[in-house]
Amino acid sequence: MTVEQPINKVSVVIPVYNEQDSLPELIRRTSEACAQLSMAWEILLVDDGSSDRSAEMLTAAAEAPGSQIVAVLLNRNYGQHSAIMAGFSHVSGDLIITLDADLQNPPEEIPRLVAVAAEGYDVVGTVRQNRQDSWFRKRASRLINHLIQRTTGKAMGDYGCMLRAYRRHIIDAMLHCHERSTFIPILANTFARRATEIPVLHAEREFGDSKYSLMRLINLMYDLVTCLTTTPLRLLSVVGTLIALAGFAFSLLLIGLRLFLGPHWAADGVFMLFAVLFIFIGAQFVGMGLLGEYIGRIYNDVRARPRYFIQRVVNSTVPVRSEEDE
Ligand code: UDP
Ligand code: MG
Repeated sequence: MTVEQPINKVSVVIPVYNEQDSLPELIRRTSEACAQLSMAWEILLVDDGSSDRSAEMLTAAAEAPGSQIVAVLLNRNYGQHSAIMAGFSHVSGDLIITLDADLQNPPEEIPRLVAVAAEGYDVVGTVRQNRQDSWFRKRASRLINHLIQRTTGKAMGDYGCMLRAYRRHIIDAMLHCHERSTFIPILANTFARRATEIPVLHAEREFGDSKYSLMRLINLMYDLVTCLTTTPLRLLSVVGTLIALAGFAFSLLLIGLRLFLGPHWAADGVFMLFAVLFIFIGAQFVGMGLLGEYIGRIYNDVRARPRYFIQRVVNSTVPVRSEEDE
């Protein structure tokens, strides 16, 4: 027996930031792909404070008679992942699909994602075949994906690809996380029981340029790492202790050699001074590592992710209470 609910409605969430040129084609192709589904659907387009005509175009598309498009307009630019979160807060479907507005993820893949999710997966990720991005971005992305796999042990190959499907309860869990910077595919995986990945095509950006400058990419990478773990802080304390131990051993060696070989070898006290210095530096690293440990714990508590999330209770008379309501 499976605990999965059936999929009655699919919601597609798309963040839009200055994409006026690709919008008409995006809406047409996404609607066509959704029309092939055997269930109800809606498309949520989130305008992330665009300065071009995107917001007006979204509003017009949503106001058209019989439209299955919902437009969510943000008052300023908050970034891709915040925009998607804003979209999540207004979905009504049981399965939520995210997608980029620049048509690099072909909307034609939507029915396939839905079919795979229907097999009982909480999260369906995608791996970009023939990825059409710059050499630098492909390399950087491969390195990061590899590191994440090592840390999480989850064999997901491509966290950067936003064409993904999530079950409703995963979305609800994510909406209960109040951290300010987040990386959705990683966050979703922390709540997923069964996740899988399918290969999808990737197209070149046809209109406009990538909205990510180098600085924003670096920012995104930090969002991803801090969303995932506090391991870098833990590393500080491990590496700090190792350096402290090495410094301490070296200072002992200096003192020992000074006693055996005489003050002349030790440059008349200079080496002793170094020995003392190494001991102090070692103490500093230990202190820093300790601070790191505390900061890691503070960070985890401040972010206040729910400790658990109940998906469903069978045969209980007590209404479901998640941690939030207490
Ligand atoms: N995007 C957004 N807010 C931003 C930057 C990007 O909503 O501040 C959207 C953008 O409109 C697109 C998606 O996020 O739908 C991915 O952006 P982009 O294609 O520029 O990223 P890349 O493909 O280069 O990673
Ligand atoms: Mg893109």
